[in-house]
Amino acid sequence: MDEKPKTLRKEIEKALEDGPMDLREISQLFRIREKDALDHLRHISRSAQLKMEPSVCLECGFTFKKRDRLNTPSRCPLCKSESISPPRYQVTR
Ligand SMILES: [Zn+2]
Repeated sequence: MDEKPKTLRKEIEKALEDGPMDLREISQLFRIREKDALDHLRHISRSAQLKMEPSVCLECGFTFKKRDRLNTPSRCPLCKSESISPPRYQVTR
């Protein structure tokens, strides 16, 4: 895997300081794949305070509060629904 340019990562970090975004919003804003956006987030979380607004099950309202993985959960542990809102990420100083 090739190393991503540092500048783009800094840009993403800056954008997340201004307000929370989910993976899709990040990938659209920077024209990158969600998978790459997730990769940047992992790196950002090592050097900055990455805060996560948890995913919520759109079917029963279950909140994925204890989750510390960055990606969107695939399925609700309570009702097994796959309609899950993506977590939103924010960088706090
Ligand atoms: Zn559910």
